[in-house]
Amino acid sequence: MRIDILTLFPKMFETPFSVGILKRAIDRNLASLNLHNIRDHTHDKHRTVDDYPYSGGPGMVLKPEPIFETVESIKSEILPEDETDDLPIILLTPQGRLFSQQITRELSNYDHLILICGHYEGVDERVREHLVTDEISIGDYVLTGGELPAMVVTDAVVRLLPGVLGSEASPQEESHANGLLEYPQYTRPEVFRGWFVPQVLLSGNHAQITQWRQEQVIRRTLKRRPDLLDRTNLDPAERQLVERLTSSPKKSKLNLDKESIK
Ligand code: SAM
Repeated sequence: MRIDILTLFPKMFETPFSVGILKRAIDRNLASLNLHNIRDHTHDKHRTVDDYPYSGGPGMVLKPEPIFETVESIKSEILPEDETDDLPIILLTPQGRLFSQQITRELSNYDHLILICGHYEGVDERVREHLVTDEISIGDYVLTGGELPAMVVTDAVVRLLPGVLGSEASPQEESHANGLLEYPQYTRPEVFRGWFVPQVLLSGNHAQITQWRQEQVIRRTLKRRPDLLDRTNLDPAERQLVERLTSSPKKSKLNLDKESIK
């Protein structure tokens, strides 16, 4: 997959793209991450990228010309032109659709993405109206720029690409993959400061371990994010467990509270 990122601050991406799983994905040609400084597509001697908003108001707005020109120069590298027709051009904005694992999966199916990082008060509305095909927010809060959101989207998408993670199975079991939260994980030592690893995980009984993990998935989700249960298609066994845990409020509250939430 190729991801092109338009930014005023390419330096911000140096560390995240040069360590860990993202670096490995780049080194193994599973992902190519290209940074484009919007300022390189200006034509005045001050390399101006922003200007005052019409009719006043606080802050500066990113001008449309350098953003359009940067995207057009990326598109011109990809021939023929019709191959760029369904190319997602995504504006990072707190006004976009809320980023999720479902959107991550959707984006990971493309061969190519373009991400546009806004700054200051944001971008001229004509970028949104006539250039971008999608708008993504990483949460209901406002950051100073789109660089951190672009890193979040890139990281989440690249780790889903085939071959990027060590174990192909891991993305399917983790939190949000199927709408629920993952079961708790333990590693050595078996006893740490008097706290024990649950016996079932040491039993070697795979059927019991699977059952324990399935139960933990429901317990955790019920305790921490009950809203997810309403949005997820549970199988009959999962639904039965939810009913069991919620039908006897006193008993299930006791059980749920035993789970330590850190
Ligand atoms: N004035 C804009 C508004 O009220 O919608 C906010 C502009 S914000 C200070 C500057 C830039 O940061 C935005 O153009 C966007 O690229 C990025 N940004 C800030 N918060 C974001 C979020 N939650 N998700 C995605 N991008 C965000």
